[in-house]
Amino acid sequence: MTELKGYAGKIAKVDLGSGKLTTVDTQKYADKYIGGRGIATRMYFEEVMPEVRAFDPENSLYFMTGPLSGTLGTGSGRVSLVSKSPQSYPVESICDSNCGGDFGPYLKFAGFDGLAVTGKADSPSYLYIEDGNMEILDASDLWGLGTYETQRKIWRKHGPESKVYVIGPAGEKLARIAIIQHQSGNAFGQGGFGAVMGSKNLKAIVVKGTGSLEVADPKKLIDLRLYSNELISPVKFGETTGGFKKKPFVNSAGYFQHWLDEGSFWTGWHTYEKEGIAKLGNSSCFGCPFSCQTTMKWSDDVKKKHGLEDGSTTCFEAWGYYQQWYKYADIDVPQFKWNQVLNDYGLNSVEVTALYWLIEKGRAEGILTAENTGWPIELMGTEKYDIKANELSNMGFIEKHLLDIGNRVGFGYQVSEGMSRLIDYIDSEPKFGPNRKKLRYWYNTLYPKAGSFADGYRTHFNQIHFGPMFYATMMYQIVAQRDPETKHVDNGFFNPFAYQANIKNATGCQPESETWYKMVSTLMKRYTGTDKAATPPGFEDAEVVAKWFWRMNLETDMLPLCDWLMQDLRAVRFWSVWTEDGFGDMELGKKFYNAITGNNLSQEEIWEKTEAVFTLERAIACREGRRAKDDVYNMDWYDYGKQVGCAAEGAPGGGVVGLNGRTFEPDKLQIVVEKFYTLLGWNSDGIPTKHRLEELGLSDVAEDLKKRAVL
Ligand code: SF4
Repeated sequence: MTELKGYAGKIAKVDLGSGKLTTVDTQKYADKYIGGRGIATRMYFEEVMPEVRAFDPENSLYFMTGPLSGTLGTGSGRVSLVSKSPQSYPVESICDSNCGGDFGPYLKFAGFDGLAVTGKADSPSYLYIEDGNMEILDASDLWGLGTYETQRKIWRKHGPESKVYVIGPAGEKLARIAIIQHQSGNAFGQGGFGAVMGSKNLKAIVVKGTGSLEVADPKKLIDLRLYSNELISPVKFGETTGGFKKKPFVNSAGYFQHWLDEGSFWTGWHTYEKEGIAKLGNSSCFGCPFSCQTTMKWSDDVKKKHGLEDGSTTCFEAWGYYQQWYKYADIDVPQFKWNQVLNDYGLNSVEVTALYWLIEKGRAEGILTAENTGWPIELMGTEKYDIKANELSNMGFIEKHLLDIGNRVGFGYQVSEGMSRLIDYIDSEPKFGPNRKKLRYWYNTLYPKAGSFADGYRTHFNQIHFGPMFYATMMYQIVAQRDPETKHVDNGFFNPFAYQANIKNATGCQPESETWYKMVSTLMKRYTGTDKAATPPGFEDAEVVAKWFWRMNLETDMLPLCDWLMQDLRAVRFWSVWTEDGFGDMELGKKFYNAITGNNLSQEEIWEKTEAVFTLERAIACREGRRAKDDVYNMDWYDYGKQVGCAAEGAPGGGVVGLNGRTFEPDKLQIVVEKFYTLLGWNSDGIPTKHRLEELGLSDVAEDLKKRAVL
């Protein structure tokens, strides 16, 4: 076929061991794998063999943009990263992560659609890319620095227009929960990929790009952008609904600004603003009209006295330390300080947040103490900020535990290995007392996946509680190669449906109401062709819905589109107040793709490509050892959910979704799993069949599996 537009044309390949810098033609992959997670997964298949461990030099990091990156494609500023994950437990396996910001578009302006990094440098290094040129530079003066100071130093040297991915001390020291930070509010959070960079002696990747991209149909692209801006706007001008004083915004107020409006529960910031402690604003990833990130500019007094830095934050980072189940606190100075230190060390905030739940339970049972952790855990949650006196108190726990985790010292070392390995350690250590195995139960409630692959903090209870769809949501995420949290569940299932209750809350459409069930059924039928899974007990056709969501979410990672924007916070693919029937535009991504590339694909054709990537990912996981026995849940998680009967902690609109009389039957889930395998063309052990791989144009993958006696 003719060359697709919208791509920069080359993928940079860097071997840090030999210093060899080469490129491959993006068109080799573009048609079949589109971009982002698609191309990254294919390259991983070709180059990272199953016997390679996460910290081996032979492991590679595939940072990949897509055809929409760097264009007017709405919410296309995100980048996918695929590599072998050190966080995956107990088997290190393929995993993906995703980061917003503006690195990806500028990588394309510099002439590269992606970056494949392998090998290990002899000494601390960073990669510098500028307009088609690549260099490996000495990072000895950066090694050991936090992510903020490293970025500042790089900006001083290469100019403030440089876009930087960076690791902190946690990544350098190979913490399995190390992230790759970008600016102050974006990161590749899941996967532990900061430690993979650390294992390669790679401190940072810096890009400067001044080039441009050619798109197939510029006029159509501009029209589409204007159309999508309108779809995204949450309310028509001047409208006020529900508990929020809503206002139209495009390129202005964002998510937390929205929540911070009068009537919301986070009122502390209003006090901070009134008292001159901080000023709020918004920022966004490249090309996003939604601006979900809240920026804080602290007063000079606060900065000076408490070492706070200006920065931005979204969602979890804004309140993760306090967690709603622990103490539903307002966003405040101690919380922000926690987030800043965490970012500076380069640690995964979601994973560390799970720790507080374990400590809370552990200290109540006498399992975790100040003596056996070395931390003043009695101070956890007692931190205070006195506005008038500008005084912080009781910060001892925050300061000490983050220092130890970031530097991998004492109990902090065990935490830096990730919660799954931590719980094994506690189990095995008599110093935690005779009750120590009780913590396993709490761990299981937080980490519901019980197989040998891709565990992770669940964040919410959505999988079991949300509406009648929990068989579909469980099926969807049970086979995922990473944690069962927001990326794959909330953004795919929960919020598209729940969010409509927020948009339409003025009409009484609350979760669990009759109107709500009707809307969920209508939506499911419209998009997946069946509404059976929307009706209790919900296991019928659950596999069909799960497959549909897999396709959709792969598409967002391949084009790319931001799933927060498209499926979650704004859910513009599902809902819009601007359309007559209230539905959004599910085909928005396809429309952008065709206008940019000049291709002319139907939605079904795009989804076939996404299914090929999903199947390829599964085939890779299988060659790394994954089987049907790994597609399971632990039941502690379900039992606890049943006890608390609450799912949608902090969901937009504040809705609380209970089980509402629904029951979960493990046997039924097993039936759904088997049907899902059949639907996807996998055998009874969860391995893609030769026939299906060939149908999807993956004959070489089938041959590889055969050669390795997997098939
Ligand atoms: S919604 Fe937020 S995360 Fe998504 S592209 Fe926009 S600013 Fe970035």
